[in-house]
Amino acid sequence: MEIPYSKLDYIHKDIMDDLIGSFKTCVKKGVFIKGINCSLFETEFAKYNKAKYCVGVASGLDALILALKSLNIKKGDEVIIPGNTFVATALAVSYVGAKPILADPNEETYNLDAKSIIKLINNKTKAIIPVHLYGQMSDMDGILRIAKKYKLKIVEDCAQAHGSLYKGKHAGTFGDVGCYSFYPGKNLGALGDAGAIITNNRQIADKIRSLANYGSDYKYHHIYKGVNSRLDEIQSAFLRLKLKKLNEYSKMRQRIAKKYISSINNPCIKLPKVAKNRNHVWHVFPVFCEKRKKLYDYLLRKGIHCNMHYPISISNQPCYKDLKQDTPISNKLANTELSIPLYIGMSDAEIDYVIETLNNFKL
Ligand SMILES: *Cc1c(COP(=O)(O)O)cnc(C)c1O
Repeated sequence: MEIPYSKLDYIHKDIMDDLIGSFKTCVKKGVFIKGINCSLFETEFAKYNKAKYCVGVASGLDALILALKSLNIKKGDEVIIPGNTFVATALAVSYVGAKPILADPNEETYNLDAKSIIKLINNKTKAIIPVHLYGQMSDMDGILRIAKKYKLKIVEDCAQAHGSLYKGKHAGTFGDVGCYSFYPGKNLGALGDAGAIITNNRQIADKIRSLANYGSDYKYHHIYKGVNSRLDEIQSAFLRLKLKKLNEYSKMRQRIAKKYISSINNPCIKLPKVAKNRNHVWHVFPVFCEKRKKLYDYLLRKGIHCNMHYPISISNQPCYKDLKQDTPISNKLANTELSIPLYIGMSDAEIDYVIETLNNFKL
């Protein structure tokens, strides 16, 4: 049996006629930027998350950069981020001129908590970016408590957490701004690059909307030195269709994850845990093994394609060598994590084959 790490054909086959219909409508109308689909998607995505405002942007990275800019994070400031995240989280901090400070995550949840952050705070610290890695939310009560005490801003990196909940509340609605990516492989993916921010703060929403549109407040009048980072009409139309299915897709992911958790019982393979009060949406199903390479090669020989999130921690990235920050837990996760196949449309036979193959693995 040949099992890819991920595939998107099932989700798109399911709504192919609607996608084509939306595309045709956009082309016939001839409006490709700042049209009705973009504003409707913003309204619908805000409503989905129970947030007041949503602003579509061009990517998840841009969402993070513009969020930090809107909060006036700049050169001389420090921003605490996890040491085990996709490089975009760190790059956003660097792009606004601030310094990323790498916090080692909680070893059980792979996410930041109050304990991991508190020792890194000094008078330069201005913000925290919790990343809701793999689809599970960080310990928001703990993080909010620290942020309040030290007057720090919170930008949530929700790029892997569409529909993820903490105590029933959506990712991105705890901090000052929540940043989403709609990269095709994300739980809510466009058919190209796209992103958005959500916030309950009107000023922040207005500022990000302006920054993302050349810094203008009205046409040809520029209050900021902004950039071009807009969510286009065709992607918005596609995202509107896919948003309607997001909860259904999250349930399908949860069903696969539940099967994995109840049936993978190999002592050489550590399984992820779901922390209390969370709705985990399983963007990634991570397992951990001391001999990760051996496991990866073994699964590949059996036709099971895996991935790693992420094989190199931020502190070990060539572009961040100068940070010289020690993150032993992040490094250990980078050396032992393996992401196993989990995608919409995965058959029971495929799920069972992955389980059986993992259970037959010997160190
Ligand atoms: C995907 C991702 C991003 C970046 O999103 P893009 O849309 O690819 O720019 C940022 N942070 C995390 C944690 C991600 O997984």
